[in-house]
Amino acid sequence: MPKIKVKNTLVELDGDEMTRVIWDKIKKQLILPYLDIDLEYYDLHVLERDKTNDQITVDSANAIVKHKVGVKCATITPNMDRVREFGLKQQWLSPNGTIRSIIGGTVFRKPITVSNIPPAVKSWAKPIAIGRHAYGDIYKNVEFKVPEGAKAELVVTEKDGKESRKLIHEFKKSGGVVQGIHNTEKSVREFAQACIAYALSEKIDLWFSTKDTISKTYQGMFREVFQEEVDKKAADIKKAGIEYFYTLIDDIVARVVKHEGGILWCCMNYDGDVMSDMVASGFGSLGLMTSVLVSPEGIFEYEAAHGTVTRHFRKHEKGEATSTNSVATIFAWSGGIGKRGELDGTPEVVKFARALEDATIETIEEGEMTKDLIPLCTSPDPKELNTFEFLDAVEKRLKTKLG
Ligand code: NAP
Ligand code: MG
Repeated sequence: MPKIKVKNTLVELDGDEMTRVIWDKIKKQLILPYLDIDLEYYDLHVLERDKTNDQITVDSANAIVKHKVGVKCATITPNMDRVREFGLKQQWLSPNGTIRSIIGGTVFRKPITVSNIPPAVKSWAKPIAIGRHAYGDIYKNVEFKVPEGAKAELVVTEKDGKESRKLIHEFKKSGGVVQGIHNTEKSVREFAQACIAYALSEKIDLWFSTKDTISKTYQGMFREVFQEEVDKKAADIKKAGIEYFYTLIDDIVARVVKHEGGILWCCMNYDGDVMSDMVASGFGSLGLMTSVLVSPEGIFEYEAAHGTVTRHFRKHEKGEATSTNSVATIFAWSGGIGKRGELDGTPEVVKFARALEDATIETIEEGEMTKDLIPLCTSPDPKELNTFEFLDAVEKRLKTKLG
């Protein structure tokens, strides 16, 4: 069978531990036999980051900026234990943090839905993607404990020295706490742009919520800026046949649990922190959660939402069989390949990516899966496969699909 030609470069970021093992298998077994593809490879193994003083991470992010699409394997973010384990020079920063600071943009998490793995919430028939505004608010707060009798004020000093002052609270009868938080219009605007880009790319409605009835100025700014960006893209939104829906956060929470899904839920920082965990656990397994970084300029980096699955890697190192779920990692590859095909205008490449996804889902739907999914599965007699048997089962179906 002739290989399908991928027109432009896909940037590949290799990683650590069990996901590195799976990564290589997926590439050799499910990608390279079918695609004639130029992969620009960056090895983000923790020792390689250490050897290059983390330059490799910076280089990989710049390569994604250049080529517009990247796929990333999970990587270790070193803590002190890891520094000792690998003899590292220092606790290198989180690669995802470094890459995000170069590419910019927002991380969207989307569960993979499979018919025999029903979500905890009965009405969720389609995925709910979550976009979290990951800047500011309480995550960059400044706070004090305040003694009784003290007075707390909010003071803003402008460039020319002009001062504005507001009383927060007089702690007359009891001490307490006080906190200052901030956000920037630029960051909110870029968040809105990334959310719109993602919703257009996935062709799903976008929902946004704040609590602007209470926080009229602070959260009100989020609502206004979001609306301005939506208005700028009104023609594209209409053309894609999708809608923008704004409501209060409590209203949206109530609606989401009765909704069928198939939406992008754009969240302020704290809401996204809490709600992404709720949605993830509602959909089942970490092994079914994908993640993509989307920049306002339309740069895409795909990965699995889980980590390097260290506990399974320890078993693998000892030669014991593991049952690590590779679905989210397969979907990182298919996501990147599908996006490459879409940007290049090569429908046959997009078709391959969808075939790989379908083969993966059908494997589970036909009752063959890794251990983590067995307790969640409604099939009468599910068959537990180890890490590599599952990939073989996907390969078998992919072969059939591609004729
Ligand atoms: P983790 O790798 O996500 O694993 C936590 C546990 O979740 C596993 O022990 C396993 O449970 C289950 N699990 C996660 N993914 C699974 C999969 N694909 N198949 C089956 N089970 C799965 O998180 P962690 O142990 O906290 O972190 C390990 C390393 O990953 C750390 O060094 C961390 O820095 C890194 N990390 C990287 C990223 C990233 O690159 N995006 C994200 C998170 C963490 P059982 O052991 O019960 O089977
Ligand atoms: Mg959280």
